[in-house]
Amino acid sequence: MQTQPIDFHPPTEDAAPFLLPVPASLFSERADRFEFLAQNHSLGDWLVFLGRLTRAQHEVLKGLPDLPLPDAAKLELAREHRMPPLNAQSLARPAAWRFALQQLCLRLQDDAPEGAQLALKALFSSSEEQLEKLADGLLGGEPDMDSAAQLPFVAAALQLVFTKLASQLDTSHLQTQDAHNVCPCCGSPAVASILRLGAAINNLRYLHCSLCNTEWNVPRAVCTSCGSDKEVALHELEGSNGEVRAETCDACKGYLKVVYQEKDPRVDPVADDLATLALDLLVDEAGYERTGPNLLLIGAHSA
Ligand SMILES: [Zn+2]
Ligand SMILES: [Zn+2]
Repeated sequence: MQTQPIDFHPPTEDAAPFLLPVPASLFSERADRFEFLAQNHSLGDWLVFLGRLTRAQHEVLKGLPDLPLPDAAKLELAREHRMPPLNAQSLARPAAWRFALQQLCLRLQDDAPEGAQLALKALFSSSEEQLEKLADGLLGGEPDMDSAAQLPFVAAALQLVFTKLASQLDTSHLQTQDAHNVCPCCGSPAVASILRLGAAINNLRYLHCSLCNTEWNVPRAVCTSCGSDKEVALHELEGSNGEVRAETCDACKGYLKVVYQEKDPRVDPVADDLATLALDLLVDEAGYERTGPNLLLIGAHSA
């Protein structure tokens, strides 16, 4: 494991504070990335399957109609109180998520690996109440591990509806949250951060939501969990080209990964995270605890 100090680049004034998800390309680009990362990878079969799941997300999202947002009064109340307007734990979940789940399962059932086939069968025969319970547990941070193999599919469907809802909002509905790693749109933790390149966004750091795929700007060189700027360090796997690094903090012993567009413009916070589980093992062994989940990973090991 290599360690290096962080270069400090203060954000420029004109950085967009929030980037809402773009449904037309988000999941198709992520699926491409999974396919690319799967090549010559020790977990290649799993990454290929996640690419198929993500491609199915793209297709199902295309057919999803606009979903009902909270009314104007509720949106304004959330803005006044600096609360996420689509709080995943309190929002009345659109029933469309179960439709999305069914559509995902139908698209995957023909060529899913054996473990996944069983999970898909179990999902097809689950009652609405059982599915809602799985969703509640996942979004509440207490996933039902007895149904672990089903959770990546439940997560994928929830990502779809929350991404759709987020894309229907306007950034004026969002407020910067006190805690860096809380999504200003749905209140979920970030999966990773991304250093973006672009005409108006020069190498600025955005945290990426594990659920709704909204991104929000945070300063570089501060811990995204506790806000400390004192004891933050970056680590990467030996032999890597530095497109994925783990940012550890000795103040809170937390870590989250950062992906770098300057190293590869196609990096994706979700796919690149899952293709670098060896980096999680290294920083876990060094005593750091991850501060945000990758929802496609929960339960994956027993799938
Ligand atoms: Zn979110
Ligand atoms: Zn910290």
